[in-house]
Amino acid sequence: MTKDATEKTLQQTGLRKTADRLRLLELFDPDRAWTADRLFVKLGDVNLSTVYRNLTALTERNILCSTVGHDGKALYELAERSHHAHTVCRDCGQVGCIPCPLKDSSDHLLEFFETCEACLAKRRRLNRKA
Ligand SMILES: [Zn+2]
Ligand SMILES: [Zn+2]
Ligand SMILES: [Zn+2]
Repeated sequence: MTKDATEKTLQQTGLRKTADRLRLLELFDPDRAWTADRLFVKLGDVNLSTVYRNLTALTERNILCSTVGHDGKALYELAERSHHAHTVCRDCGQVGCIPCPLKDSSDHLLEFFETCEACLAKRRRLNRKA
């Protein structure tokens, strides 16, 4: 989400605009889903209980929703999405949202394992140096 969008979204929820909440929301895009652990690593200097508290507050207000990923961990993403499938990066664990390739959208969760763009780029850089 852009900075503007995160500020507007937070305003709509009536939640206080804290720096932690803004930084958290900025990481959410329609093509990404996050586990709390990965958000925690990405955010750096925020403690894990704050990450969980903010995720819960935003989920309660219907800005985010949560589903369960292949490893049983909760996956958070922007709410009110239509049915879709997920990709999981084997290297970094980043979860991406993609259109579901199946016609019947009922009763399944699809996840594909791949190497994400960022990790592919990193590999290419390392290969060049070698
Ligand atoms: Zn990756
Ligand atoms: Zn998703
Ligand atoms: Zn599907």
